[in-house]
Amino acid sequence: MGTPPAARHTKHRVVVIGSGFGGLFGTQALKRRDDVEVTLIAKTTHHLFQPLLYQVATGILSEGEIAPSTREILAKQKNARVILGTVVDIDLDAKTVTSEVLGRTTVTPYDTLLVAAGAGQSYFGNDGFAEYAPGMKSIDDALELRGRIFGAFEFAELATSPAERDRYLTFVVVGAGPTGVEMAGQIAELAHRTLKRDFRSIDTREARIVLLDAAPQVLPSFGDRLGGAAKARLEKMGVDVELGAKVVDINSTGIEYETQDGAHHRIEAATKVWAAGVQGSELGAMLAEQSDAELDRAGRVKVNPDLTLPGRPEVYVVGDMIALDNLPGVAQVAIQGARYAAKHLRARLDGKPAPEPFRYFDKGSMATISRFSAVASIGKARFSGFVAWVLWLAVHLVYIIGFKHRITTLLHWVVSFIGRGRSERTVTAQQILARNIIRKMSPDELPKLPVVASDHEPPAAGLEKDVRSAT
Ligand SMILES: Cc1cc2nc3c(=O)[nH]c(=O)nc-3n(C[C@H](O)[C@H](O)[C@H](O)COP(=O)(O)OP(=O)(O)OC[C@H]3O[C@@H](n4cnc5c(N)ncnc54)[C@H](O)[C@@H]3O)c2cc1C
Repeated sequence: MGTPPAARHTKHRVVVIGSGFGGLFGTQALKRRDDVEVTLIAKTTHHLFQPLLYQVATGILSEGEIAPSTREILAKQKNARVILGTVVDIDLDAKTVTSEVLGRTTVTPYDTLLVAAGAGQSYFGNDGFAEYAPGMKSIDDALELRGRIFGAFEFAELATSPAERDRYLTFVVVGAGPTGVEMAGQIAELAHRTLKRDFRSIDTREARIVLLDAAPQVLPSFGDRLGGAAKARLEKMGVDVELGAKVVDINSTGIEYETQDGAHHRIEAATKVWAAGVQGSELGAMLAEQSDAELDRAGRVKVNPDLTLPGRPEVYVVGDMIALDNLPGVAQVAIQGARYAAKHLRARLDGKPAPEPFRYFDKGSMATISRFSAVASIGKARFSGFVAWVLWLAVHLVYIIGFKHRITTLLHWVVSFIGRGRSERTVTAQQILARNIIRKMSPDELPKLPVVASDHEPPAAGLEKDVRSAT
């Protein structure tokens, strides 16, 4: 049995679930505590900077630039270690977290638990849409979309009829929030600017990009003025913006939507992107079942004002997973929440009074529309156009983790925004096909780690079994 070197029981064991903004910043906020040992469990080996996923999908950035290794980020934090695995069970009575990777099961005990498992894409009960319209939540999503977007231009070049060519040159983005706006803007830039000289049979500038949303406004959380500015800019770039349009069906060749007058419309489009709706992590339901917590309609956990789970003061929940005071699902809510939870825990360990309930400080929000054009809302100030874009650039550079990633990101931005190129246009058939094939495999068909007899030998004497591993 491969038991990882275990830690000592004398220290306070904190288990953190998730290596996103909440998990990573929560772990780092405990770095000065010698009396604490943190085990961060996540289903990926990287920390993901989700706000720039659309740039991976459209060939501006590489996946490495927005997804640095969590292990590397935490290498110098001696009281923290990282375990790879998908959390499949949390036992709040036994105080253990069970995770799995490729058939290997690991059980990790805790004294305090910080859950920051984020949110997934919601297809509003139509999960079958995912096969034809990938969401934008992970590196896999972004690479699949990159394959589909660049692949569509390739197939348009091969098309044997105008109808087929038009289908491949039509891109539909569902959801006019920041992600949808950014995706639509970037696909338009690809078609009108980046790719316009690269093909012989097609004129990529004839591509049709449609942005659909059931809501009556683009970027509703930014207010009327900035939403209107974003819509005008998108339309100037050639994007068709269809509002009040509710998607009712999607298949491999197109998308159907219903307008407010009840009429149904169909767009023939090979490439669909889903940027609408979020659903709190499935771990939320697991926590609610074993505590006094309730879930909201999006599956988010209704936490106490101090971010603890009702009835379980040793469990904190932060970030996109929580429902509290209508807080938005943004990085700062996760970062500030995780830092608050760490502060709350430190006070508890030191026998000091608990801090005041969590208060979110809104630093503002921004979204890019195209190169040199963005919208930003900071306090009462509203910016649009170039000024907002410069603000966006500066803020994102600050938050990208690691000096070397900042340098390469800046270089790729120069290539894409000042030049007309895209540094990351590599696509493979696997990016498009592999996930759908894996999705259809039964649990028995999924690959497992190989095991030989000596793997079951007991751990060396003296090693405490704080982390138990079984295959
Ligand atoms: C495309 C996109 C663009 C965005 N743009 C912006 C923006 O411009 N500005 C902004 O402020 N916010 C933006 N956001 C929102 C922001 O990224 C989130 O609010 C933030 O990431 C939430 O942090 P979190 O820690 O709660 O969750 P996440 O960052 O999603 O992290 C969740 C972590 O949990 C792990 N995990 C999940 N389930 C399990 C499991 N069962 N077992 C183990 N690990 C698990 C995941 O692998 C991940 O490491 C964007 C989000 C997306 C998807």
